Amino acid sequence: MILAPHMLAGAALATAIHHPALLALSALGLHYLLDVAPHWEYDIMASKKAAVCKITADITAGLLIIFFIMQRFAPAEQALILWGAFFGIMPDGLLAIYLFSHGKYLRRLARFHIFWHTRIVPHKTHPPLWLGVTTQLLVVAASLFLLLR
Ligand SMILES: [Zn+2]
Repeated sequence: MILAPHMLAGAALATAIHHPALLALSALGLHYLLDVAPHWEYDIMASKKAAVCKITADITAGLLIIFFIMQRFAPAEQALILWGAFFGIMPDGLLAIYLFSHGKYLRRLARFHIFWHTRIVPHKTHPPLWLGVTTQLLVVAASLFLLLR
């Protein structure tokens, strides 16, 4: 799953879980659960320069939406929302370290990540584009619903 839906899902958790440590653990767990859903992802291995652009655009989109929504919340809640969003994408940050180190670092964690990715969609295969996009739109819609209610 791309980063913006993960960020929004982690941010949405902050509306229900107010303890920072529990929120962090829940956002990490939710990341892996969401990765089980068939989803489309962009390629980050073809070109490092293109990967940096895609990742930056993805995070920026997530942050713009979150900063816009955060105005509705008190400062303490805003901090929790950012905290949830951060832990919502942390597994992908750790996976990026594994990938860009060519498997030198965080190998076990990468295997754990891939385990969740491949529960429905086999390794190195992709779901149909319509399905891969729809699942992420549903995550975004559910997250926005929780954040804006
Ligand atoms: Zn992931």
